[in-house]
Amino acid sequence: MADLSKAEILQWLKESEPKRLQDLYRRSDLVRKQHVGDAVHLRGLIELSSHCVRQCMYCGLRQANQSLPRYRMTLNEVEDCVRLAEKLGYGTVVMQAGEDDALTSDWIAEVVRWIKRETALAVTLSLGERREEELRLWRQAGADRYLLRFETSNPGLFRLIHPQRVPDSPDRLTLLRQLKSLGYEAGGGVMVGIPGQSYESLAEDVLMFRALDLDMIGIGPYIPHLATPLGSGALCPEIDPAEQAPNSEEVVYKMMAMTRILCPDANIPSTTALATINKTHGRKRGLSVGANVVMPNLTPVKYRSLYQIYPAKACIEESATDCSECLRGQIHSLGRFAGQGPGGRRICEDPREVVSRGHSQLVQLQTQ
Ligand code: SAM
Ligand code: SF4
Repeated sequence: MADLSKAEILQWLKESEPKRLQDLYRRSDLVRKQHVGDAVHLRGLIELSSHCVRQCMYCGLRQANQSLPRYRMTLNEVEDCVRLAEKLGYGTVVMQAGEDDALTSDWIAEVVRWIKRETALAVTLSLGERREEELRLWRQAGADRYLLRFETSNPGLFRLIHPQRVPDSPDRLTLLRQLKSLGYEAGGGVMVGIPGQSYESLAEDVLMFRALDLDMIGIGPYIPHLATPLGSGALCPEIDPAEQAPNSEEVVYKMMAMTRILCPDANIPSTTALATINKTHGRKRGLSVGANVVMPNLTPVKYRSLYQIYPAKACIEESATDCSECLRGQIHSLGRFAGQGPGGRRICEDPREVVSRGHSQLVQLQTQ
């Protein structure tokens, strides 16, 4: 397996020579091609509810943000989004929300059962830190994957920016292990450039992805939201300014590239946060440095601007059909193709994926 030591990761994080960075990106793109092929999987995102009981210091959905009108989708609206995902040829729906107790275990289980009965779609859930019995119930109902970013592997910083809801509740790293043991494909990830986050802590994040053997890994820039303590500067974690990692595009690309090298067969999205800080090229560049997944938005347009995790979020005006066409255009312009079927880490149903991986391995053998 390809390897990068912590010292090498740190060196790359601080590298500024464009030619050397091109070498890193070429290497990560080749690893992507060899291990997951040229397919880009489209996961349709349904933002179920903007209600949240948590007080994460970075997120616009935190309960204390009273300036944000809240919504919760109805069952009919969710079903319409799922039908649209099928019509647009997506292989997965991702149902995401704040930690909203009104999304009861039974309601979510019913929705998952309905999707699995009526469609061939894979179901990913991203509903925050829920109880083990709920996670088990949803898995039994047919949910395939669960996304829960651990945000930073630095325990002190995590506790500071992510107050616990219930004292002594399991942390996100523990929950990720629990999700894997329940049989989910588990997705973690981090924000890059959180105030108080050092370069060294980012290097440890990359090593943590590999140690956890994650199936999906989401990496995006931290984007300040003025209605949050971290974004307004009311909370200012102490750090030596020379050690503070920037929330720049380039550092995100470096993190994605090294993650691809160390976790070659993981599914790695080119995130909406990346598309937000570079609306023109962010998604495509993410796909060029190691990503193989995009998450087009299926949420009804009337709700999109209300799911305001951070300001100026990309793709909040476009219809689901426009999003699909735009992303497919970007994928084709890179010489890649949209994957078919669920596109899980352990299964590959699309024959073109086999061909594209096989071909790249052949090319590599010929050039050795
Ligand atoms: N409530 C669920 C949870 O916390 O896992 C899912 C929704 S939450 C909005 C999804 C992700 O948004 C978080 O894991 C976090 O990484 C990201 N996020 C929140 N605030 C952000 C910010 N200010 N900048 C960038 N990403 C942010
Ligand atoms: Fe709620 Fe998730 Fe935002 Fe935290 S990150 S406030 S849990 S929506």
